[in-house]
Amino acid sequence: TVRVRIAPSPTGNLHIGTARTAVFNWLYARHHGGTFILRIEDTDTERSRDEYTQNIFAGLQWLGLSWDEGPFYQSKRLDLYKQGVKTLLDKGLAYYCYTSEAELEEMRERQKARGEAPRYDNRHRNLTPEQQAAFRAEGRRPVIRFKIEDDREIVWNDLVRGQMSWRGSDLGGDMVIARAAENDIGQALYNFAVVIDDLDMKITHVIRGEDHIANTAKQILLYEAFGAQVPQFAHTPLILNIEGKKLSKRDGVTSIFDFKDMGFVPEAMVNYMTLLGWSPPDSTQEIFDLATAAQQFSFERVNKAGAKFDWAKLDWLNSQYLHKMPVDKLTDLLIPYWQKAGYEFDATRDRAWLEEITSLIGPSLTRLPDAVEISKLFFTKTLQYSEEATTQLQQEGASTVLQGILAGLDNTADLSAVTTQEIIKQVIKEQNVKKGLVMRSLRAALTGDMHGPDLIQSWLILHQLGLDKPRLQQAST
Ligand code: GLU
Repeated sequence: TVRVRIAPSPTGNLHIGTARTAVFNWLYARHHGGTFILRIEDTDTERSRDEYTQNIFAGLQWLGLSWDEGPFYQSKRLDLYKQGVKTLLDKGLAYYCYTSEAELEEMRERQKARGEAPRYDNRHRNLTPEQQAAFRAEGRRPVIRFKIEDDREIVWNDLVRGQMSWRGSDLGGDMVIARAAENDIGQALYNFAVVIDDLDMKITHVIRGEDHIANTAKQILLYEAFGAQVPQFAHTPLILNIEGKKLSKRDGVTSIFDFKDMGFVPEAMVNYMTLLGWSPPDSTQEIFDLATAAQQFSFERVNKAGAKFDWAKLDWLNSQYLHKMPVDKLTDLLIPYWQKAGYEFDATRDRAWLEEITSLIGPSLTRLPDAVEISKLFFTKTLQYSEEATTQLQQEGASTVLQGILAGLDNTADLSAVTTQEIIKQVIKEQNVKKGLVMRSLRAALTGDMHGPDLIQSWLILHQLGLDKPRLQQAST
């Protein structure tokens, strides 16, 4: 059975790249009825923070990416890694290396001068016990290196990128897998801990960003050193900005919650992330939930090329989800924005007309904060008139029309969609004016603008709030 994992390092908030990798893992697990595991890679104690771990949990939950096992913490599994290092030492596949920082630096300088890529020259591979004792006596602190033969061929069939082929000589010499503590094995390094965990957690498919390809080559050698079966690998394409560079802080977004703050809903976010590098078999289908995507997901339809982040598409998807969202749910989402804007209302007592506003403006929303501006006319006593609206109200006949409407209002006991039409018809007949003049004047007077949500619906809401008469009066004088 399929077992996959997302293994974020809590050195920052949940990043869009990590979240997209989580989406692909989740989809693959669900497609195969497999298990999705969450592992927190917090061995870098200096940069890891609990607040970031909490942000990662909250972000995955917000997106609806539930995990089946975990969270596991690498910081609680250090003994297991130590055990693994010991196994390789015992097998003679790893060794203590005492090369000092200064010596490494000198090595790199020399290689640079010769135009070679920097690499460790494996100089301490075959130290005698006496040589080791001498280095220790000097007070040198060793690291533990894993032997990588230059002529080793490393091949794997990547589920996204196809046949991959590396040579041992590409990997920079024998790799450091752990530091050494006083007469003991110290902290294991990232590349090593990952292999131990993936083995221990019986991971069948490692799905991660393509920036890990070189790690994969090294990790495959470690699996082989343990005589273990190598999992399958799928390296997902990078997310690029409009200029084709890796999406970064400079693009104004990093954390998933940055998108939430901008007013994107999680349904649209996961839908969009699913399309970042993958396309469904019917590529005209763009709107789907996670469960539908899971049914169709396969690596055959994951691109090798980087996925360009397309704001217009994300906006479009978000608007689609907002437009079909149930009114009560959308109202719940809008209330905090109205509150933040300082609009006065009681979220419980005024629920009915808040929902009316929501259903009126819902179809005009792209991002949630759009609601603040679009619905402003319902929350403010004094209107700001746009230039166009002012011009409209100065049109010949406009104020007479508005006075006619006021008179009609006074004669109407119950304002409704039907009676508003009656008032309008009455004015057209009595004053012998065009319908357009009536509607435009009414819109200018009631909303202060010439564009906006449905006029009659807006009027009905304003009427409930007692705002229509004063506005008509003010605009007609
Ligand atoms: N901790 C790594 C990262 O956050 C993930 C490594 C992996 O998936 O193997 O990039």
